[in-house]
Amino acid sequence: MSEFHYKDGLLNVEGVSLAEIASQFGTPCYVYSRKAIESAWLEFDRALQSQKHLVCYAVKANSNIGILNLLARLGAGFDIVSVGELERVLRAGGKPDKIVFSGVGKRKDEMQAALKANVKCFNVESVNELVRLNGVADKMQRQAPVSLRVNPDVDAKTHPYIATGLKDNKFGIASENAIATYKLAATLPHISIQGIACHIGSQITTLTPFKDALLKVLTLLEQLKQLGVTLRHIDLGGGLGICYQNEAPPARAAYIQAIIATLNNKNIELIIEPGRSIVGNAGILLTKVEYLNESADRNFAIVDAAMNDLIRPVLYNGWHAIKRVVKATNAEERVYDVVGPVCETGDFLGKNRLLRLTHGDLLAVCATGAYGFTMASNYNSRPRVVEIIVAGKHAYEIRKRERIEDLMTGENLLPES
Ligand SMILES: *Cc1c(COP(=O)(O)O)cnc(C)c1O
Repeated sequence: MSEFHYKDGLLNVEGVSLAEIASQFGTPCYVYSRKAIESAWLEFDRALQSQKHLVCYAVKANSNIGILNLLARLGAGFDIVSVGELERVLRAGGKPDKIVFSGVGKRKDEMQAALKANVKCFNVESVNELVRLNGVADKMQRQAPVSLRVNPDVDAKTHPYIATGLKDNKFGIASENAIATYKLAATLPHISIQGIACHIGSQITTLTPFKDALLKVLTLLEQLKQLGVTLRHIDLGGGLGICYQNEAPPARAAYIQAIIATLNNKNIELIIEPGRSIVGNAGILLTKVEYLNESADRNFAIVDAAMNDLIRPVLYNGWHAIKRVVKATNAEERVYDVVGPVCETGDFLGKNRLLRLTHGDLLAVCATGAYGFTMASNYNSRPRVVEIIVAGKHAYEIRKRERIEDLMTGENLLPES
């Protein structure tokens, strides 16, 4: 996290201190580093230079159009899961022919929108979806470019809620049905077979599951070749983990090297769909201590950010480092649960943290660039927070803090009767 460092006793993002950001934009506040985002994407892209490839950023990790635009300018592709994400990518200047459309529940209108936009590929996850897509494309007199997402049945050894490649997960076509589904696809006049896809989960911190998944995909590729079905690309999905606490995930380049070695000179385009690995360590959630509630049994630091702003701690048991913005303090060191104001016992950002705290202190909840703001809600009628990108010495507001009136937009009173 080199873009996040202490300078003159203050935690900085690139060349701007978080204390300055708090005074200019208020708290809570998500703050991202442009350099961290760009260099992560470029690391993947550069490591793949010997291979025909496309690095499709997984939009759901952080879908702010300011971030999508930075990546689009670098030439990134995008992995989307909804028509909302499609519109964001197009608005941000992303190229349709670099968009892959994933997801188990694509509606007809979403298929129409993606066909109209000319996306690169639909990653189809079931026979029913394949048949529906053929029908939608037929009505539009179009050919739908398709990869089948197969479920390789490998254990990603990650949190059960973010494991997707086991055969009892809802994702993808079971390996044993893959060949039959390709045969069916080949008979559908409005389906154009492009490739094969898989995505085995998220926050994966070893290489073995990726290699195992790719080997299974390569076996299918060979079987398909025997049947006369040739594929143009392999999409290996995303899932490379980051360090939150003491995980030691492979470096991006090492991950790519392992994939390239497993590909063993196959002349085929490789698509990857990293999300977390690009933005996770590139953002923090800035928050302020409102109250300290200390007792013999337990000490609570009640901060102004909450589970509606960052749900990972309670949803995935996610652990995020919590750091003081102003390094020096005379406050006594205590063990705190850092909690928000929401009326839920699950409303915590960190438990059992050794901290020195006083009312009004600013804290950074670290490594929250991925699945932070995108999972935020308005629970307890809390406006969603402002998002800032720092580039060098400048801080840019890429999303305004919501106002109270925004919370009620579209709501109506019933007529009096
Ligand atoms: C969530 C998801 C990704 C991104 O996963 P990360 O762990 O953030 O890299 C990529 N592809 C698909 C299909 C996904 O569902």
